[in-house]
Amino acid sequence: MELIIADHSGFCFGVSKAMKTIENLVEKKQKAYTLGPIIHNPQEVERLKHFGITAADFYDIKDGNVVIRTHGVGPDVIEQLESRGLNIIDCTCPLVKRVHKLAADISNKGYLTIIIGDHNHPEVEGIKSWCNGDVKVIENVEEAKNFYTNKRVGVVVQTTQTEENVENIIDILQSKLDIAVFHNTRCKATLERQTAAAAVAANVDIMLVIGGKNSSNTKKLAQVCQNVGAKVYHIETATELKKDWFKSTDKVGITAGASTPDWIIKEVISKMDELNKDMDNKEIATNEEEGEIIYEDTFADLKEDTIVEGTVVKVDNNEVLVNIGYKSDGIIPINELSNVAFESPEDIIKVGDKIQVYVIKLEDNEGNVILSKKKADAINAWNFIEQAYNSQNGVEGVVTEVVKGGVLANINGIKGFIPASHLDLKYVPDLNVFVGQNLKLQVIELDRKKNRVVLSHKNILEKERERLKEKTWATIKEGQIIKGVVKRLTDFGAFVDIGGVDGLIHISDLTWQKIKHPSEIVTEEQEVEVQVLRVDKERGRISLGLKQIMPNPWDDVDKKYKVGSVIDGKVVKLVSFGAFVEVEPGIEGLVHISQISKDHVSNPEDVLKTGDNVKVKIMDINAKEKRMSLSIKEAQDENENKQIYENTNENNGVTIGEMVGDLFDKK
Ligand code: SF4
Repeated sequence: MELIIADHSGFCFGVSKAMKTIENLVEKKQKAYTLGPIIHNPQEVERLKHFGITAADFYDIKDGNVVIRTHGVGPDVIEQLESRGLNIIDCTCPLVKRVHKLAADISNKGYLTIIIGDHNHPEVEGIKSWCNGDVKVIENVEEAKNFYTNKRVGVVVQTTQTEENVENIIDILQSKLDIAVFHNTRCKATLERQTAAAAVAANVDIMLVIGGKNSSNTKKLAQVCQNVGAKVYHIETATELKKDWFKSTDKVGITAGASTPDWIIKEVISKMDELNKDMDNKEIATNEEEGEIIYEDTFADLKEDTIVEGTVVKVDNNEVLVNIGYKSDGIIPINELSNVAFESPEDIIKVGDKIQVYVIKLEDNEGNVILSKKKADAINAWNFIEQAYNSQNGVEGVVTEVVKGGVLANINGIKGFIPASHLDLKYVPDLNVFVGQNLKLQVIELDRKKNRVVLSHKNILEKERERLKEKTWATIKEGQIIKGVVKRLTDFGAFVDIGGVDGLIHISDLTWQKIKHPSEIVTEEQEVEVQVLRVDKERGRISLGLKQIMPNPWDDVDKKYKVGSVIDGKVVKLVSFGAFVEVEPGIEGLVHISQISKDHVSNPEDVLKTGDNVKVKIMDINAKEKRMSLSIKEAQDENENKQIYENTNENNGVTIGEMVGDLFDKK
């Protein structure tokens, strides 16, 4: 068996406010009359009597303080009290005052005022007094059916009415009357209490409803619980509880009317505990303890200007309701939801989300707890940034726009400035490339009062680079094949970042062929795989090789080329003793000056120039020494011989093939 306490049990906002005023009087030892019982709870009224707070009738009050109850009174009563020189302490609930105003407006417009409410209830009597013209009180469906007028009407509702009664009555009135305005002035606290009580009642065997027997709102609460099928006991105090009620009972629910003080609710819970022990049912006792904890939690201390956690229970276009474990749910007005622009509140939040909210007001004019998610987010974000600044830990932020001298980044809703010089390790000409990027940032300047946050991405990159550098130096070994990124090209080679450290690929180690500039092989920011050739930790130098991980064309030169064959080549360099001819990228051979021509050549430049395409005959290959001897002269001889054979053959009508067989093929 379980004991379940319904949310929103006990004092509502209006009663709680009035009782605070009374407790203040008690504290100051000031006596006062209340115009009728301050609340519909005889036990509390009796308790207060001992402190000089006495319920009295209108005509019995002669002097001193007079307290007007939450139900409110008409303007005529106030006038008369004032005329008697009494000190009026007005505890009318602001929500009831609102009904007074709406009812007065309706009658001032010349409409007949209909009040959906209980005849003779003090709140209804008070509302009636604020109307200048005709007033009609309708308590139930029967009365609604029997009423007719051809006048235009305006409708207000007694704050503690049930939703069902109001809906049924208004349906009937709308079908036959000319209704100019309908203000459903049911109080939200009542709605919340009744809804929470019904939810509990639907799941228990017995529902205890605590409150004055003459309390209208408690009676209605009992009615609501009965309507969902629970067996209901309406009690005023714990003394009424009977053990017999709970035989063979699994679950008991508890709720309390708006005028039931906390101490009476606690007494009931405590008495239930005793009953359970009497019934020797340990399981029940345990659950009751939990019930008590839940009850205490329900009344958790909530303070303004603090941040609390809550669960989203409702989202609509005007406000978001959040359960913060308080008597009533808190409201986030839509303009307090987020700093980020949104089309629909659901873009930001959804039912069931656990969020942090800032308590702006414990009670607004209508008794609502007003919250701000926007403010809680901002405070949390500032705290987070401050912590990051003090600890020098990095934060993440998305760059939103380019501004003069740098960019702005958003860190959890707070805007920070990143100077251009702090965006990267190197100069970046167009800062727009950063827009939309999520960057790791270090807070380098912070002034909360001036809303100023200055950030650096460069510092983070430098730290990362430093960490990588240490790791690279600790692990690097000659012969290793590693990955890197080309960072800078010079005439003599390419610098490659291999993890916080730049190594150099000398131009001669970029490729097996001869090149004039590294840009012929690599470009900046290109990823490359390289071999570590030499590591000099003392001088902090690392030599890398790119060609070393590529096939060396000299390795299979013997297979590809045969001595005596004539091939195409290109003159790549002229020297005094001959010409270097490239036969494929990475393989060059030397045509000695004596092998350039049959005629005497004193300077190779007299007959050749760099870039000339030439036919050369392979005279010798030394793969080990990477040397190849070539001859242009011999290649020309071959060619001439071939032509002689061809010419002779043409004249004799014999083909070269017939004359020399496979002579040329074998070369
Ligand atoms: S109007 Fe609502 S909040 Fe005000 S006293 Fe009545 S029940 Fe309480």
